[in-house]
Amino acid sequence: MEKKGCNHLHPQSMCPAFGGLRVLMRIDGVQVCLVADQGCAYGLTFVSHFYAARKSVVTPELMNVQISGGTMIDDLRRTIEEIAVDPGVKFIPVVSTCVAETAGIAEELLPRRAGNADVLLVRLPAFQLRTHPEAKDVTVATLLRRFASPGVGKKKKTLVILGEIFPVDAMTIGSVLQKIGVESVIALPGTALDDYIDAGHAEACAVLHPFYGQTAGFFLENGVKIVTGNPIGANGTAEWIKRVGEALDLDSALVAQVAEEERQKAREVMARFSALEGSVIVAGYEGNELPVVRLLLEAGLEVPYASTSIARMPLGEDDHKVLSAFGTEIRYRKFLEEDIDAVMRYKPDLVIGTTSLDSFAKEQGIPAIYYTNNISARPLFFAAGAATVLGMVSGLLARKEVFRSMKEYFTS
Ligand code: SF4
Repeated sequence: MEKKGCNHLHPQSMCPAFGGLRVLMRIDGVQVCLVADQGCAYGLTFVSHFYAARKSVVTPELMNVQISGGTMIDDLRRTIEEIAVDPGVKFIPVVSTCVAETAGIAEELLPRRAGNADVLLVRLPAFQLRTHPEAKDVTVATLLRRFASPGVGKKKKTLVILGEIFPVDAMTIGSVLQKIGVESVIALPGTALDDYIDAGHAEACAVLHPFYGQTAGFFLENGVKIVTGNPIGANGTAEWIKRVGEALDLDSALVAQVAEEERQKAREVMARFSALEGSVIVAGYEGNELPVVRLLLEAGLEVPYASTSIARMPLGEDDHKVLSAFGTEIRYRKFLEEDIDAVMRYKPDLVIGTTSLDSFAKEQGIPAIYYTNNISARPLFFAAGAATVLGMVSGLLARKEVFRSMKEYFTS
């Protein structure tokens, strides 16, 4: 949305290719071959080390001389061969980014195997993919199209859990699913190529994050049922358990009983925070912000504004409806300027935002924390998740006067 006085020039997500690198570099036996301009390769190597898997990428030099000289494909093939000399390398994803995609990489000119490794082209140019969450989706879908073999038959009561989640959440999900009779769970994005092969046999896929549109499309085309939503908050948790039960045709009485137990546990947690009040703005770029807002609203907090870097997606429609019913103003594909404008208009008691927005909020004397480091790095699901997130928010709201007096100290 164009607004007077806003330049809308700030990047709202890191380089989209990072999302794909994060998925790929966690796979055992992988060696990424990154086809990128030297400047991009520098930045992506940096973020891959710190935020992906602390591994290096290998890259053919890609400068004007290679692009205009027409040697790009030959250079790339030579680099793949060099990587494949190592017998420990089992998988070589060729990650093609903006410049390489613009120059054009013909997939048919790349090998499908080299040495002991499968070779797979993953196209992640920013002119097609706006954000790193969406690049995760494209990467997982590309892996499934190559490795999953859906035609070989379904394994009953097998569920794919789709979405990067905190390890404690994975354990809690596993134990609840076991209680209702799920026999096998495959977590994607996975750390083994076998996870992608096994996913082809699943009966249903629970999509925990709304940006996995292409991956959900792959599963639907192959007769795998899609479970939307996630076990966040009391009502969301109970609803999610019931949806999994229906999708896998589990014992409905047992499923209803477990759903009710988990709803009660989450409600008890929320009751402990019944005195919680205040207004919170949530503005991340991870693509999973809206369910977090749903939890805050369910706990009785006001959330006048929420924003995310991803587009409005069909998989997130339930959350959109809940937030809209509570009167939350929602911005998809947001700009930093819109977030700043919201902080000025609503003057919240707490901002859970991006680093740039947090700096701005703190300058106004408003407590602010970084969404990625604080929300994505703690459990979110079931009663345990509610307790952790609400405990953190409660602590921050209790200290809001400290931020105001700090601002006064520095400005007076
Ligand atoms: S030009 Fe493209 S590949 Fe390079 S850093 Fe920017 S978005 Fe990423």
